[in-house]
Amino acid sequence: METMIEVDGLTKRFGNFTAVDHVSLKVGKGSIFGFLGPNGSGKTTLIRVLCGILEPSDGTARIGGHDIIREGDAIKEMIGYMSQQFSLYDELTTNENLTFAGRLYSLRGRDLEKRREEMIETTHLNNYVDRRASQLSGGLRQRLAMACSLMHKPTVLFLDEPTAGIDPVARRELWDLLFEFAAGGMTLFVTTHYMDEAERCDHVGYIYASKLIVCGEPDELKKMEEVNPPGTRRLDVTCDHVTTALQAMHEMEGVRSATVFGQSMHLLVDEKVKRSEIEEKLRSVGISHSEIREIGPSLEDVFVTLSAKRAESAKEKKAA
Ligand code: ADP
Ligand code: MG
Repeated sequence: METMIEVDGLTKRFGNFTAVDHVSLKVGKGSIFGFLGPNGSGKTTLIRVLCGILEPSDGTARIGGHDIIREGDAIKEMIGYMSQQFSLYDELTTNENLTFAGRLYSLRGRDLEKRREEMIETTHLNNYVDRRASQLSGGLRQRLAMACSLMHKPTVLFLDEPTAGIDPVARRELWDLLFEFAAGGMTLFVTTHYMDEAERCDHVGYIYASKLIVCGEPDELKKMEEVNPPGTRRLDVTCDHVTTALQAMHEMEGVRSATVFGQSMHLLVDEKVKRSEIEEKLRSVGISHSEIREIGPSLEDVFVTLSAKRAESAKEKKAA
């Protein structure tokens, strides 16, 4: 696959704080890259460096073959950026917001009008063209913000938490659009906190304390040995009183980790731990019925396991 975004040892320091620490990654043309990590881990900073808003302290990156430092102008034309606090003009209508965004990119007259119509069509905003932005729902606002960031026909789009705070239906609609764009050849770089969204990306990267700790295809990451230690298996346990059950599991020998997962628990246990032993332990705390099945790791398991390991080894390094 043709590489569209290539990041090499990119570092951004603010004073003596390192917000992005030697990050390297590649994103293929027409693919969706999901960028995850806790708040404050450096996601927005990396995007801002890639978009040319911040200068890197060290390292390089190329977008569509252009160097982000030396060829900033070429890059500005080919990228769109929907920032975390993308601001629409509340007093302006959908149409007027799009017109404004188009003018910023020197679109005028018939070209501007044509592009606006196209974007309204693409993002399904036909019924809201004359509505003020302040009167649009969260999901519609995000779609309009996205349409604004696409007015100049970028081939690479950076979206920083585009689905934060919108409802599940609007979230799905937005992702349907992202898939459409990718199918049309656009390259998408998206940050999110939602694991279901990460699962749908071609590649995902997880940044933790300014360092990219893992990067790859979701299915490949789930097969990593660090995530599947030899002699262990993962179980999903569905039962009532999950918090009581969790407590009991933490006390049980051979249970390496236990986390709540919606209505159930995910356990990483030594192979020798029998289902009957788990059932017995649960009965001892008053949970008479439980359903246990073997599962593979989820992406969340991957990220949780790897970040815990990195934090541990960082601690050891400090102590040494
Ligand atoms: P994320 O998007 O993953 O939540 P950010 O990239 O926004 O994280 O921030 C990473 C870290 O860098 C945070 O600790 C933040 O406080 C710090 N930071 C971001 N921008 C600046 C800045 N302009 N000056 C100083 N520190 C900053
Ligand atoms: Mg951010």
